[in-house]
Amino acid sequence: MKIQMLPSTIDENGRASARQHLMSIIIDDCVAIDAGCLAMACSDLQRRQVRDIVLTHPHLDHIAGLPLFIDDLFSTLTAPIRVHATREIIDILERDIFNWAIYPRFSELLNDFGPVVEYLEFLQGANFDVRHLSIRSVAVHHKVSANGFIVSDGRVSIAITGDTAETDEIWELCNTTPDLKAVLAECAFPDEMDKLASVSDHLTPRRLAREIEKLHDHALPVFVINIKPMFREKVVEQIEALNLPRVEILEVSKIYEFESEPPVVAGG
Ligand SMILES: [Zn+2]
Repeated sequence: MKIQMLPSTIDENGRASARQHLMSIIIDDCVAIDAGCLAMACSDLQRRQVRDIVLTHPHLDHIAGLPLFIDDLFSTLTAPIRVHATREIIDILERDIFNWAIYPRFSELLNDFGPVVEYLEFLQGANFDVRHLSIRSVAVHHKVSANGFIVSDGRVSIAITGDTAETDEIWELCNTTPDLKAVLAECAFPDEMDKLASVSDHLTPRRLAREIEKLHDHALPVFVINIKPMFREKVVEQIEALNLPRVEILEVSKIYEFESEPPVVAGG
């Protein structure tokens, strides 16, 4: 399984920078988890291939690129873009984003080939299939109804917490997923902003360290995502100071590949 966090900022040389304002993770160049910067930062291949977008929750940093992505592809789509979300998220998108005031209600529009967007509702806690992936949604603890995901391609799984404060279920599910190769966990704020983290239902390095103690496999890699760009250096510094060998910061733009272990040949 190949995963890539799309960049959402550029540096002074016009290259992708590590500051992450928006969240969009592309799996195997064809499925997007969130669409924060999907329209702005996907590769040409991803622009051609991504037709399934799975949403953790409707906060702007996770959906900002969704209207722009549909708009960009509008006239060329021969099949609708499939937005996988809970009923609550779909209703918020239709009420607050695709309402003609913020952006067109694409669900009412047709191009020469037919509808351009299709909502596929999933239930929190349910399994659903997206292309070659099987995804389990898990309720996490955030300001709005939000999902974490365990994503499986049939050989390996990864967990994505999405935005969350302290929560139990996703960590318990990680413990019962035998082919789990990594957890992508949020850590939005530095420790000194604990109050804001608490009010906004996010984690700090200290809180994240306590969360990952819930994992039984002490070698399972944990990649940190969704660090607020203004506090990135501080959060990275504090995570490093915790000296947790399994924890690293997920590099924006970098392609990570997770493979199943080669089968052990008996008697050889
Ligand atoms: Zn959020």
